[in-house]
Amino acid sequence: MPDYSDKALGLGTQITRRDLLHDAGLLSLGLGLTSPSYSESTTVAESRLNYPPTRTGLRGSHPGSYEAAHAYARDGVPHKQPDRIEESFDLVVVGGGISGLAAAYYYQRQFGQDQKILILDNHDDFGGHAKRNEFHQGGRMQLAIGGTHNLEYWQFNDTVHRLIEDLGIDIAKLRRQTQFNYGRTGVNGQAIWFDAETFGANRLVSGCSLKGPPSASPLPYLDQFPISEKAKAELRQFYGRKTDVLSDLSDQDRNDYLHNTGYFEFLQSKAGLGEEARALFNNASHGSWGLETSCLSVAEALEDGLPGLNLIGATAIESDWDYPAGFFPDGNASLARLLVQRLIPSIAPGATPDNIAIAAFDYSELDKASHSVRIRLQSTALHVENRENVVYLSYSNGGKNHAIAARHCVMACYHSILPYICPSLSERQKVAQSYQVKYPLLLTNVLIRSRAPFTQLGIDGASCPGRMHASLFLGSGIETGGYEQSLTDPGPVPVTFWGSLAPKEGVTHVKDQLRSSREKMLRLSFEDYEREVRSVLQNLLGATGFRADRDILAITVNRWPHGYSHEYLDLWDEDWPLGEAPHEVARQRFGNITFANADAGASAYTHTAIEQAARAVGEFGKPS
Ligand SMILES: Cc1cc2nc3c(=O)[nH]c(=O)nc-3n(C[C@H](O)[C@H](O)[C@H](O)COP(=O)(O)OP(=O)(O)OC[C@H]3O[C@@H](n4cnc5c(N)ncnc54)[C@H](O)[C@@H]3O)c2cc1C
Repeated sequence: MPDYSDKALGLGTQITRRDLLHDAGLLSLGLGLTSPSYSESTTVAESRLNYPPTRTGLRGSHPGSYEAAHAYARDGVPHKQPDRIEESFDLVVVGGGISGLAAAYYYQRQFGQDQKILILDNHDDFGGHAKRNEFHQGGRMQLAIGGTHNLEYWQFNDTVHRLIEDLGIDIAKLRRQTQFNYGRTGVNGQAIWFDAETFGANRLVSGCSLKGPPSASPLPYLDQFPISEKAKAELRQFYGRKTDVLSDLSDQDRNDYLHNTGYFEFLQSKAGLGEEARALFNNASHGSWGLETSCLSVAEALEDGLPGLNLIGATAIESDWDYPAGFFPDGNASLARLLVQRLIPSIAPGATPDNIAIAAFDYSELDKASHSVRIRLQSTALHVENRENVVYLSYSNGGKNHAIAARHCVMACYHSILPYICPSLSERQKVAQSYQVKYPLLLTNVLIRSRAPFTQLGIDGASCPGRMHASLFLGSGIETGGYEQSLTDPGPVPVTFWGSLAPKEGVTHVKDQLRSSREKMLRLSFEDYEREVRSVLQNLLGATGFRADRDILAITVNRWPHGYSHEYLDLWDEDWPLGEAPHEVARQRFGNITFANADAGASAYTHTAIEQAARAVGEFGKPS
């Protein structure tokens, strides 16, 4: 196995350092950018530096975004409540994610366009999880998804459909303009990449997947797996058998078994997989769930596409793996941008769903006193309370604390922080809000010089059972929102590394695992992530002549320690009576304060964030 030093991997290369001007960095390195636009790139690049989507390095929960909240919520540091109210609004929204933006939209519809609305968010960009990464290379902009990306329109209720239609988004058109499918059905097919550090040999096995449709079954490929003969034989049995190991159970008992048994226990006791074979599935649900696969029940794992249907008398159906979601090239950042443009039209005059991905956004318009809606970034809510008929709220911005008043307040931030911001809530409601421990997620985008090495290997992506990121795929083939980059475009292309982080060993309870993973995600430095993706790409693509020190143009790590909303899990959560589930208690109206965010629906979807915004605003009732 080649021993790549940090230097050989290009760790010292300037372009990858956080918050550098990509183009200026490349120019200084003489990396052969020929576009005429680069002769003028210093000023262009300088203005881009102040434009959050172009920032590289550690993004998502970026340095500077969470320290104020951690100081009071985690470390118990008291903060000063300013007495003087500096500004008053009709509505203050805490959280500028899809839910907070949608709350402002619904408030305007309910109470009128002239309502004064302030949205506070702790990040340097709006959108919450709906963030985009922009790379500018060779005179072109490359877009990548920084967080939430698919629109699962088949799950939309009428409220969500109406908002999507009102913004002018035509999902059928998005589908027509999209070939992307996570590298599964692109020009090339599925693949598994085994790395030498974990498996003793670097081995790319193309044409199959550990989880997925019957056509991607690894059965014909098992001989190529760099694992023991024993593990291969077990997997052969597992994938090849057709039986019903639960045939002696009644329907009720079968259902109970599927929901109350851990998937790994099933793999061991019913599928006969030993530890080595089971370990292949450890991180297989990192992207889809943000959890270790061992936390899932049999039913949840099978639902997630993991193998085993053949052992319970069922047949996997190829079309169940079709995934006809709607996509913009920057994911749901385009949805956030359309919402912001609706709220503050002057930020991007003329922006429509047909050009939203490439529309210029003037961030100086975000927080202007002359606008009815203002978005204030880098502002962390510290305290909120009802005072007679107004809501008093303090927040920190630029190291100073400020106080504002509003008639109404929608808390569209993570629920786990609410008990600290809103101490006058009942203990019952605070306990319910604390129940929400989100699932951490990691989306690292690496811009490479060309897709040629992938084409040479005949892959568009691969799952990586031994690595930090569970999978990677080329981010091309979404030609919506005015953006053009086909699946076969030969120029620079982002590779998206997708997954979560394994918790430290020995931690058993799912919530402790989530906290451990979150803590690790924040503790790792940019260099740790950088070393990982450089080493994976070098080892995966090296045989094609790819050189990480030369062919990696930029790296953006989107870490989301507070990622997916906590959806209730078969093995870890109770069946609460209607109205008593933690999310239902957590979201109860409190005076003039209501609660949105996807957490309020205990469901990690963009459409849930919208549904919960509509409900939270609806609770204020009609204007009298
Ligand atoms: C990596 C990733 C991928 C996802 N992919 C999909 C997908 O493809 N499809 C899908 O439907 N869903 C997806 N989701 C789920 C996603 O959470 C929802 O889609 C949706 O974006 C959640 O929106 P939200 O507004 O409820 O929360 P958020 O986007 O989390 O927004 C809440 C905002 O409040 C801010 N905030 C928190 N505390 C404070 C405070 N004290 N003061 C000020 N601001 C504060 C937060 O920092 C954040 O910016 C994904 C989530 C992640 C993390």
